[in-house]
Amino acid sequence: MGIAENLKENLKIKIQNNLNRNYIRKILNIIGKKPVLAAYGATFASRSDKYLNIASIKSVRRAYNGKNIVAYGSLFLPYEMFHALGLEPFMPEIMGGFTGSLGLADKTLKTASSKWYTPDLCTFHRSASGAVELDIFPIPNFLICSNLACDAAQKTFYIDAKKYGLEDNFYLIDIPYEKDELSVKYLASQLEEVSADICRKSGKKLDIGKFKKAIMLSNEFRRWALKAWDVRKELLIYPKNFSGMNYILPFHGLAGTKDAVDIFKSIYFELNKLLKKQKNDGPKVKKILWLHLKPYYNNSIFDLLEKNNYMVVFEEISHVYWPELDPEKPFESLAIKLLSNPLNGSVQNRVNAILKMVKDYNVDGVIMFAHWGCRHSNGGARIIKDVLREHDIPMLMLDGDCLNKNNSSEGQILTRLQGFMEIVDARYQ
Ligand code: SF4
Repeated sequence: MGIAENLKENLKIKIQNNLNRNYIRKILNIIGKKPVLAAYGATFASRSDKYLNIASIKSVRRAYNGKNIVAYGSLFLPYEMFHALGLEPFMPEIMGGFTGSLGLADKTLKTASSKWYTPDLCTFHRSASGAVELDIFPIPNFLICSNLACDAAQKTFYIDAKKYGLEDNFYLIDIPYEKDELSVKYLASQLEEVSADICRKSGKKLDIGKFKKAIMLSNEFRRWALKAWDVRKELLIYPKNFSGMNYILPFHGLAGTKDAVDIFKSIYFELNKLLKKQKNDGPKVKKILWLHLKPYYNNSIFDLLEKNNYMVVFEEISHVYWPELDPEKPFESLAIKLLSNPLNGSVQNRVNAILKMVKDYNVDGVIMFAHWGCRHSNGGARIIKDVLREHDIPMLMLDGDCLNKNNSSEGQILTRLQGFMEIVDARYQ
């Protein structure tokens, strides 16, 4: 085990043994101090991993330190708005993912069950709800969610709001099904009203200058992300443990900050350097597009792929789906960003986005991890598989759970993966 892994393992055990908000705050205060953070950063094998870890710790520390206005936010919201309003975002689904990698999910899920959260609810939310019940997560001041793609956030966030007596500070942003002028207006006015209400409740004035700044930083992050993802169209050598699925927090939660710019800039330079090193056409691998998310506990899926010369060259979650934002029209721009998400509206939007990724990354096959409880993603799986078959692209659906290893049969998953690779290999013989 390397230094970074040792450090992480030690932290994990300490948190497991002292599972409460104050202890987590104490740990974050220690590792969040500049010299410790710099030393910690130096232990990472790749530059992008270092930037990711440091920015994530800084963000979570700000949410825990008790000095900032904390807003729970669901995935896919326009976080530029949070940063412009001076809100410290805390993303329960993402942090639910961390409960899996910290080995806490058994406890948080058990707690959620004891509080009658239904087992057919996605474990990102169930685990996050367990963490809220256990008083592990920071206390929010506001809770903002949307009905985009996820049917779970609106319910769990409201229960969280009730726990803290914050029903008046709970906002559900309603995302229209169609992407047209009327929808942009309707959504932009909701974003503006929510912003104005939050300002009023926090005793601040709505500062459009801050919105413009956040939008410009978001555009800068987007440009670097596009450049980095362009490199990936040819790249076959990656830094150790690189996965686009590790960057969800900065890709969404830090959009509109300098940290997101720095992270995606560092990914671009790191990957571009490797591309230059890649001799001729690089190693012979089969290219995979990964749909939805991955398991966040220890598993052998990616080792098995690597051992058989398969490589995930792109992930659906990394797709930059929105156009450049207009700083002069912040609310309209953010509304367009939300409406551009391929998970919104007809499943055809998602199918079109996937077909584009298949073409751009010239993949040999597609794997979808069908996470238990995600009705939206799994509901479209069969249609996606049928369309890909028409385009002669094999697709494998792996049924499992991203957080609860007890709800995933690793043996079955690996057997199916092996069978899929045999099918793809046979196409080249
Ligand atoms: S996996 Fe699906 S149900 Fe779970 S948080 Fe994500 S979108 Fe919501």
